[in-house]
Amino acid sequence: MLDTLRRFYHPGSDDASPPSGAKAWRVPYLREHAETPFQVLIGTILSQRTRDETTDVASERLFRAYPTPGALARAPLPRLVELIRPVGFYSTKARGIRDCAKALLERHGGKVPTSIDDLLALPMVGRKTANCTLVFGFGIPAVPVDTHVHRIANRLGAVRTQSPEETEEALRQVVPKELWVPINPLLVQHGQNLCQPLRPRCEACPISELCELGEERRAAVKGPRRAPAPPRKGAARP
Ligand code: SF4
Repeated sequence: MLDTLRRFYHPGSDDASPPSGAKAWRVPYLREHAETPFQVLIGTILSQRTRDETTDVASERLFRAYPTPGALARAPLPRLVELIRPVGFYSTKARGIRDCAKALLERHGGKVPTSIDDLLALPMVGRKTANCTLVFGFGIPAVPVDTHVHRIANRLGAVRTQSPEETEEALRQVVPKELWVPINPLLVQHGQNLCQPLRPRCEACPISELCELGEERRAAVKGPRRAPAPPRKGAARP
């Protein structure tokens, strides 16, 4: 299934033929822009509850001015607010990313740690951000679950969960570890393009035959099977 999504959104990335009608799909922020583990970490904090386009602009401004933990830790707060506005909760995030940079300096010599527990101990870092840093910053297998991954995994029927935390745990049980790294970027891209929250475009979806919701919707379009009409009086019997 992940291979099918990869060929669909990134035709030409292997020997498989591209689908007809391949077009330019939206690409998740982290897949396009993140560079160093530090930028992945801070960029993911900025992206919380913020549109990718906004994160993109704010991150570029921020990293041009303060490209390292040392520089960010010394930045004046009003300047940080000015640079990252209008990301969601920009005041809280300005203070949070500066605290995070200070913690990297004090606890890890200015390096981003590669242990999930060390990452989770940093300011502003929850499970999604920690897992994103492992996957996109270091290529370490982890399962970052945001609203897209949570929603699509449940629609597919791969998990039955109530929260992203439960989904992460369930996916870790059912998905082989060698597939953890591509789960997030492919499902996020699918969620941004076709499997959107309110109106999923199942009719255009390349994995609809593997999806419980897709199957239900196809069955609903076909409608209930009609019972065969009773033979008319005098009609010839087979
Ligand atoms: S069939 Fe529909 S609900 Fe299922 S993954 Fe595709 S777009 Fe999403």
